[in-house]
Formats: sequence, C-alpha cells, structure tokens
Amino acid sequence: MRDRTSFLRPDLAQLAAYTPHPGGETPAIVDRLDTNESPLDLPTDIKSKLAWAYQEQIEANRYPDGSHQELKKAIAEYTTESANLNDSLNTDNISVGNGSDELIRSILIATCLGGNGSILVATPTFSMYAILAKTLGIPVVTIARDETDFSLDIAAAQQAIESTDNPPIKVVFVVHPNSPTGNVLADKELDWLKSLPENILVVVDEAYFEFSQTSIVGEIKQRNNWIILRTFSKAFRLAAHRVGYAIANPDIIRVLEKVRLPYNLPSFSQIAVSVVLQQRQLLLPLVQETIEERKRVYSVLQQNSHFQVWQSQANFLYLRLNNIDRNHQDSLLAKVTASLKAEGTLIRHTGGGLRITVGTPQESDRTLARLEKQVSLLINN
Ligand SMILES: *Cc1c(COP(=O)(O)O)cnc(C)c1O
Repeated sequence: MRDRTSFLRPDLAQLAAYTPHPGGETPAIVDRLDTNESPLDLPTDIKSKLAWAYQEQIEANRYPDGSHQELKKAIAEYTTESANLNDSLNTDNISVGNGSDELIRSILIATCLGGNGSILVATPTFSMYAILAKTLGIPVVTIARDETDFSLDIAAAQQAIESTDNPPIKVVFVVHPNSPTGNVLADKELDWLKSLPENILVVVDEAYFEFSQTSIVGEIKQRNNWIILRTFSKAFRLAAHRVGYAIANPDIIRVLEKVRLPYNLPSFSQIAVSVVLQQRQLLLPLVQETIEERKRVYSVLQQNSHFQVWQSQANFLYLRLNNIDRNHQDSLLAKVTASLKAEGTLIRHTGGGLRITVGTPQESDRTLARLEKQVSLLINN
C-alpha cells in the first residue's frame, strides 16, 4: 500500500501517544484515583470570584499577558515564603508554562534538540520526560532504581554518564518525591547530583512539594545547572487550568522564555493562579488532611498480607503484590486494574506496581474494598 504520510518522521510511527486513562472509557467512573489530582474542586466562593473575573476583567478579544509579570511576582513570593529563604527569589528566577509538561519540553528544546544531547531517567518514574524526548528525536538513557527503597542506582547512573556519547547526556531528570514510588531524594542521591559537572543540567521535579514539604530550592542560587519544576495541578487543585513553573537562575530562565510559545498561558489560567495564591491559607490546609488520609490508607494496605506498600511523601501510594515474580505480577495487576475500572475505580498500573491517589475517605474506602476483593479472587484461584 502506498504510504500517504511519507512526509512524517519515521521514528514517530513507533511512538505511542500518552493516554491518561488507558483501556477506553467506562460508563460511570466514580473514583478517579489514577492521576494524583486533588479530590476536591475549588470552593464555590473561589469559583465565583473566577467567574466574576472572567466577566469583568478578561477581554476575550485580547491576547493574554505574554510576560506573566504579575504571576511570576506572586509565584516568587510564594516559593520564597514556603521555603523560608533568606535570599528571596525574584521574577527573573521564574518561568511559567502551560503545565510543567510545557516546561519539560522547553528544557528539552533548549538542551538536547538537534543531536546535542541525550537525557537520563531512572525508572519507574514520571513518563513524560521520555515521551516528550522521543517526540523531539532525543535519545533517552534509562537506568534502574533499588527495588527496596527506589533510590537511583548511582553506580549505573555514573556509568551511563561516563559512557554515553553521540550524543552525551546533557540532562538528568529526577522527581522529588518520585512518582509513582513516593520516595524523596536521599542524601546520597543529592550528593551525587551535586557532584555532576556544570555542563549537565539537573532537573528536580517537585510536583508534590506541598505534600512532602521538602525542597531543594535553597540550593538554586548556588547551582547554575539546576532547575526545579513545580505545578498548580496537584495541591492547588488547578489541573484544569494547566499551569506549572520553573525555578532557576536567570541565565536558564531567559532561555526557557525564548523557546516557549509567546502566549502560552490563557488569561483565565493566569487569573486562576493569582486567586489560588491569594487564597492559599484557605486551600492548603487540605494538604494536611490528605497526608492524614494517606497514613490511614497506608496502614490498611500494610495490614493486608497480599500487599507490599511503600511509605510515600506525596498524595499517592505505591504497592505491589507480595511474593509474586515480575512477569506474573504485571499480568495480575493488569487484571486487577481492568476489573476495578469496570467497577468504576481508576488506579494506575505502572512500573510493575499500582499507584493509587489519596482521595476522599469515601473514595479510598471503596477502592480498598474493591482492590482487596479483586486481589483475593485472583490469588486464591
Ligand atoms: C502531575 C505531575 C506533574 C504536573 O504536570 P502538569 O503538566 O503541570 O499538570 C509534573 N511532574 C510530575 C512528576 C507529576 O506527577
């Protein structure tokens, strides 16, 4: 058959598109615990403020503010205050993206595009680094993690950096705490990242910072080759608005600003972020409730002998089935995930385990009951 798309890059034919909820749609989804969103929508009075802002402040016929100055100022204040930094961050330390996904892509464009570099990731981890790299034709070098605490295999990472050329590794992506496994960077991992030469960029994705309350932001001013990524999609409950930000030194920020699209952030999203930052005293206490709920769900899972569950510093938990080898594990977990989905519960099967978002107590209870039922059906058969 004649190839009617021969103008396309051949490597894209092999690439699978990112599917947020794989396996097709289910009629009535009740519990969406697969994407680590906040279980609660914004409070009604905040939504009313936003509706008013749309009515009164946004001129739909005008392009959004492409400089993001107000937004950057508010973000710089929030990041400075939340880390108790003496040396405050300024607007020239911040770049704002259409989700952190856009920032990841900008980083890849600014560093590795056109055969300039490869990236290093340690799996299991956030899948977008590798997916976006591949869409840009950027090679991805993958190393493993320790299967007990999910720390990076540092010897393998160092080996990869020393032996990869053509093109060499230019960016290392880590998540702090990691998704899907929930562990924060340990001291030995941080020491290794600090030991990397200045011609390698270190990206520390702190999407779950509000839950972990640990950050490397205090290091940024001393480190010209580090970038932090954060998002409003998780603790701030704004996943629908697609806003993320990068924190780094001005030299890096200037380049991220060059490669992004000029009007990357809709006016309504910019206003939404200003409002949630103003209202953070009202919104962020939910984080503490989520942490308490995470502890409760953890202890329920831990008491069930079928499961091995890991401590998490984020708003999700990661688990595997006890005493079952990797291949069998994956086929059982695929069945469990599909059965739960048929019942109306979405969880994520990834990296050889299950990642379950901490939802409301009702959502968690329903999910735990369904999970325990499906697993005992499978294991006892
Ligand atoms: C959820 C998540 C993000 C957020 O991405 P957005 O594009 O800002 O919604 C980024 N990194 C990690 C590791 C995540 O889990």
